[in-house]
Amino acid sequence: MALHSAGETARLLGMEDVPPVLEDNVTGRSPFLLTCDHYGRLIPRRLGDLGLPETELSRHIAWDIGIAGVAEALSGHLGAHLIAQRYSRLVIDCNRPPLAASSIPRISEATVIPGNEAMAGDEAESRRVAIFDPYHRRIREVIDRRLRDGVPTVLVSLHSFTPVYAGIIRPWHIGTLYHRDTRLPALLLKLLRAEPDLVAGDNEPYAVSAETDYTIPVHGEARGLMNTGIEIRQDLIADQSGQKQWAERLARIFGEIEAALRMQQLV
Ligand SMILES: [Zn+2]
Repeated sequence: MALHSAGETARLLGMEDVPPVLEDNVTGRSPFLLTCDHYGRLIPRRLGDLGLPETELSRHIAWDIGIAGVAEALSGHLGAHLIAQRYSRLVIDCNRPPLAASSIPRISEATVIPGNEAMAGDEAESRRVAIFDPYHRRIREVIDRRLRDGVPTVLVSLHSFTPVYAGIIRPWHIGTLYHRDTRLPALLLKLLRAEPDLVAGDNEPYAVSAETDYTIPVHGEARGLMNTGIEIRQDLIADQSGQKQWAERLARIFGEIEAALRMQQLV
C-alpha cells in the first residue's frame, strides 16, 4: 500500500512543476530561521486550476499576498535562512495538520473549491507526500543541523492576512501570533507597539493552536525553540514599495530583538 502510494504521489509533480521548497540565505548566520508556509500560489499542472477562475486564485484564499517579497528582503537584511513553500494553500495548507479538515479546504471563506470536493482516495496523500512532507522535512533537517552545530535558532513564521474577512474589517497593521512561547512574542509586541504609526495585534487576527497550526507547534514548541508568528495586513504589502518598507522596518526591529536576546544570553 505504501509503495503504491509512493508511486502515485510521484506523479503529482511532473517535469513542468518546480519543487515545493524555496530557500534563501542558506548559510546566513542570523539566529532567526524564517519560514513562509503560504509564500506561493502555484498549482501542480496535473490539478489544472482546481475549478477556480484566476480572480479566486489570486485572492488571499490561495496564498499570503505580499509576504513573499517581505520574506525575501527580510532574509537578505538579516542574513537569515528562509525556507518557503511555493504551492497554493488551496492545494494543501502547509500550516495545518494533514488530518485537519482545513488541510485541503473544500470551502475557503465563501468560495467552494471544486477540485477539492471530490478527490480520489489517495489524492490527499499524494498532495501531502509531494508538497507538505518535503517542506516540513527540510525545516526539520535545518533545525536538526543547527542544533547539532550549536547554532542559536529562533523560529519566525511569516504570514499576511486579508484586511477584510467575511465582511469584518481588521484594524491591525501587524500581529504577533503565539501559543506557548512567552519570551519572544512579548518582546516583539513591545517593540511593535513602540512604533507610533502601528496598531499591533496581540494574538490577533489569529492565535496559534495545535489544532489550527502546524509550523509553530511542531518546529517551534515541540523542539523547545523560541518562536513567534507574524501576520502583516495584505494591503500594506501588496506592492514592492510596501514590501521593501516592511522588510526594512522588521529588520530594524529584529536587530533590536537579537541584541536584547544576546544581553540575556538567550542566543
Ligand atoms: Zn499564512
